[in-house]
Amino acid sequence: MSNQTLLEVKNLKQYFPIKGGVLGRTVNHVKAVDDISFSVKEGETVSIVGESGCGKSTTGRAILRLDNPYSGEVSFQGEDLLALSKSEMRKKRKDLQIIFQDPYASLNPRQTVSQILEEALEIQNVVPRKDRRKKIVELLETVGIGAHQVDRHPHEFSGGQRQRIGIARALSVDPKLIVCDEAVSALDVSIQAQVLNLLKKLQREFNLTYLFISHDLGVVRHISDRIIVMYLGKIVEIADKKTLFQNPQHPYTKALLSAIPSTHIGEKRERIILKGDVPSPIDPPAGCRFHTRCPYAFDRCRTEAPDLHQIPGKEQRSACHLVEDGPVDFSELQTIY
Ligand code: SF4
Repeated sequence: MSNQTLLEVKNLKQYFPIKGGVLGRTVNHVKAVDDISFSVKEGETVSIVGESGCGKSTTGRAILRLDNPYSGEVSFQGEDLLALSKSEMRKKRKDLQIIFQDPYASLNPRQTVSQILEEALEIQNVVPRKDRRKKIVELLETVGIGAHQVDRHPHEFSGGQRQRIGIARALSVDPKLIVCDEAVSALDVSIQAQVLNLLKKLQREFNLTYLFISHDLGVVRHISDRIIVMYLGKIVEIADKKTLFQNPQHPYTKALLSAIPSTHIGEKRERIILKGDVPSPIDPPAGCRFHTRCPYAFDRCRTEAPDLHQIPGKEQRSACHLVEDGPVDFSELQTIY
């Protein structure tokens, strides 16, 4: 990993309008992502985790401009992506690829694997036509699919193999950043491990940078350098992996960690069950957005939104009033439920 910043996201907001009335005017917004900032270094894997609806996938899509953001800044290698025209952005996509959760839905069932990869190579025009077949075979071998399988259709492969084809397609244009959006969530646990190992191998080989989006902290543990935890459109904690797992400094991160099954025989982990459901992103709670479910909430949390506080001496920031004077030991605090 280098110290060079590859991606910088500043004050990103993604609001989707809600239309109403006879005139179909915008009457409100779904605040799916609400003012988040972070950066990713070249060769780094940064994961974004949180429950469904926290805004993690929306963030990935906004960065790639699959949906244009409502406001904010996204710079890639110092270039403002939001200032690019549609055709400039199309060319830029060569550097910024995405792997989706459901490889079957993202691969055209009528095309052979060879045609799928050929199409990707043709769009970005990265390899002369005469060399494409050779490149396709190389790509498939890189991801562990044999040359004899190039003329098969997606339905002839298993879920894990299909995800490998999705990875080959992303790799085909020599990208710098790959957004992996729940890329292993649909796979069995043993296949998940194989695909994660493949992603790690490819990262070393091709100096790739990953933005890895997942609802599962247990999965991101195997691949991340740093982890961003999101809740209801906001970043609630950012830390390097080790720090986050050893000493989380946000009650929501603590609850997510408690849900990961222990891999150590005999170790008992106390599961923190959060009360209630995630509130609506149309009208999020005032103050700290987590206060309606937080077991440590106090009066101030209901009126004042916490800043993302830097934890002294750590590569860790947490959006909780409790940590504004330094790290806390949550086990010493009284819970309200
Ligand atoms: Fe909980 Fe308050 Fe911290 Fe929010 S600010 S996480 S409600 S203790």
